[in-house]
Amino acid sequence: MTKVLYNNNVNEEVLKAKKIAIIGYGSQGHAHALNLKESGFDVVVGLRPGKSWDKAVEDGVNVVTVAEATAQADVVMVLLPDELQPTVYEESIKPNLQPGNALAFAHGFNIHFSQIVPPEEVDVFLVAPKGPGHLVRRTFEEGAGVPALYGIYQDYTGEATALALAYAKGVGAGRAGILETSFQEETETDLFGEQAVLCGGLTSLVKAGFETLTEAGYQPEVAYFECLHELKLIVDLMYEGGLEGMRYSISDTAQWGDFVSGPRVVNEDTKARMKDVLTDIQTGKFAKEWILENQANRPQFNAINQNENNHQIEKVGRELRELMPFVKKQAKPKKEVVSN
Ligand code: NDP
Ligand code: MG
Ligand code: MG
Repeated sequence: MTKVLYNNNVNEEVLKAKKIAIIGYGSQGHAHALNLKESGFDVVVGLRPGKSWDKAVEDGVNVVTVAEATAQADVVMVLLPDELQPTVYEESIKPNLQPGNALAFAHGFNIHFSQIVPPEEVDVFLVAPKGPGHLVRRTFEEGAGVPALYGIYQDYTGEATALALAYAKGVGAGRAGILETSFQEETETDLFGEQAVLCGGLTSLVKAGFETLTEAGYQPEVAYFECLHELKLIVDLMYEGGLEGMRYSISDTAQWGDFVSGPRVVNEDTKARMKDVLTDIQTGKFAKEWILENQANRPQFNAINQNENNHQIEKVGRELRELMPFVKKQAKPKKEVVSN
């Protein structure tokens, strides 16, 4: 089995002596900044005036401009939206990096696809929590953590690995497990996971199931509960006990249906298309199209987003969730689909 590191395998002293700039205070940024601060590290947040700035001030963290935070810090963690990172990097981060500093990311996209080309005399590492930022924060507050991957792209000082591990421990990942990866592996697997399984695969599966039932004349409310609401209950069981643990809790009828019908829905054809998706990620085709889409001001992204929000499953869902006060919103829905 791959080596998984925990808190007692990691010495954080090397990072205690440094100042950490967290650039951005969104989903990941607020979690990293607050967790690191509460773990005893010296943190400054870099932002532009606006919503996040006000929130960071409210949370009691030290906030300055991106340029100023970079200039003050030894370790600069870039937690801006991936598509904005290259511009902000060129304008405000690069001119303020000193030789021997470390540049860090929570996703390898911009380094791997050469949208950011760092100078040779800095360390470049990755600490990628494998969960949404709001859970990185919530689990930390509960005394737990979200697992994280770390990887080194450039080790100028010889300290890059020690810094990355200390950083991962500081955000709470050492309680759940820290695994080594590369920028390439993290970027490609992260994109594939969110496209084929976690986000894209799942939303398409849910919609197809919902449409199949409603088109056959069943009530949309019943279809919503069956194809969307119940998912969480099933996923919780899988999270705790894998497929076997989930199957232990469902009826034998459900398990037999799982065995005979699951492979009819997701089959070798589906897998062949998953391989196509992976190929587009590996060749940079997906990255290129997403970069161009952003340069064009997201015409397709916005049109699809609007369509999706008007799907019948969304309308029914909004109404039903209003009637289920226990289905709390844990975090504001993100305006963007790029999720991790
Ligand atoms: P968010 O969209 O949640 O937050 C972005 C932050 O950047 C906001 O605080 C925003 O502030 C700030 N910002 C935007 N533009 C600028 C600018 N020009 N100058 C200064 N600040 C700016 O990002 P995420 O946390 O989702 O993503 C950050 C990184 O983490 C990405 O690399 C992503 O791939 C990675 N990641 C994200 C995960 C997640 O859970 N979402 C999981 C794992 C990795 P403002 O209010 O001013 O707009
Ligand atoms: Mg059932
Ligand atoms: Mg992602």
